[in-house]
Amino acid sequence: MKRIYLDYAATTPTDPEVAKAMLPYLTKSYGNPSSLHSFGLEAKEAIEEARGSIADSIGARSSEVIFTSGGTEADNLAIKGITFQNKSRGDHIITSSIEHPAAIETCKFLEKRGNRITYLRVDSNGLVDPDEIKKAITNKTILVSIMHANNEVGTIEPIADIAKITKEADIPFHTDAVQTFGHIPVNVKSLGVDLLSVSAHKLYGPKGIGALYVRKGLELTPLFHGGGQENKNRSGTENTASIVGFAKAVDLTIQEIPTETIRLTSLRDLFIKGILEKIDDTRLNGHPQLRLPNNINVSIDYIEGESVMLNLDLEGICVSTGSACSSSEHGPSHVLLAMGLPREQAYGSLRITLGRWTNETHIEYILDSLIKIVTKLRAMSPLVVKVKNIE
Ligand SMILES: *Cc1c(COP(=O)(O)O)cnc(C)c1O
Repeated sequence: MKRIYLDYAATTPTDPEVAKAMLPYLTKSYGNPSSLHSFGLEAKEAIEEARGSIADSIGARSSEVIFTSGGTEADNLAIKGITFQNKSRGDHIITSSIEHPAAIETCKFLEKRGNRITYLRVDSNGLVDPDEIKKAITNKTILVSIMHANNEVGTIEPIADIAKITKEADIPFHTDAVQTFGHIPVNVKSLGVDLLSVSAHKLYGPKGIGALYVRKGLELTPLFHGGGQENKNRSGTENTASIVGFAKAVDLTIQEIPTETIRLTSLRDLFIKGILEKIDDTRLNGHPQLRLPNNINVSIDYIEGESVMLNLDLEGICVSTGSACSSSEHGPSHVLLAMGLPREQAYGSLRITLGRWTNETHIEYILDSLIKIVTKLRAMSPLVVKVKNIE
């Protein structure tokens, strides 16, 4: 059966060019980058070149980029690293209630150990209000962490506006840019952030590699202790092949942002219009304009998103309910609940994320399948019967 992948926010296929760039660093230039012989130097050089080009792409210096095992570790390193480092200065962290589990669970862990956390509310479109951050700041606040764009509903947060407030208050500001890097422009200078997390597998690179940008002068306590790699910030032998692949993926992806933004936005809007017009009682979740070019999140009344997802899978179409991480936990999405959706609507939501290999034929095909499936499921749904009886 032909399969259509529409879950690019969960992960992306590794670009064949990226895989090709990685191979020599697994089989030929396999030296330990800390070794002083030629094998080691070869690997070290490749890593530093990759670091330079990734740093360049976000407007940072090489020395400000720390490679990690992915977005999760970058978020952990930013949040715990700053918290541990500033223990004597304060104990208060400000974040939002719609962060990725990598950030929100890290905050909950710190909260259990005695830190105070403010989880800011968002509006019905998923937007954080910078004024709320201003109000939440105390003289014990040591970190603000707000994601650049949400992975479930695609809402893009006002990071530059928040940065003005944190700068004035002299509080480090971290943003999780895993969903935006490679998809919309990401520049640490124009965003005004002090720490920024990225991950390779969300932009056609390999899984298990990411990076944390840390502004020069800002210190953090490492999570891993050992050989002192990554300028003592992250011990462990560097993943040379994946680092090289990450840089290659960044090169390829950044180039195509302007054209892909136009192409994906038009496919996205075609799809949104199709669902809202052709299926009754559906709603778009997330901000209508301030949203990622590839994100569609809709609530379909009277039926469960999970049933729709599984039925689509039978037709070879792969989408998601909420985020990949929370959808295996069976609860309704914490993001949709924070945006004020009733539980039934949160349960009835579907996330469809587009990417490099999505075309108009796919959009038409999934729309047709979706109409068929929703009609079938609603015919069996006790919720529809109830509503119909009232009428
Ligand atoms: C995927 C994702 C992460 C986690 O990144 P990994 O590299 O999979 O650990 C963190 N934050 C956001 C917003 C994500 O979408």
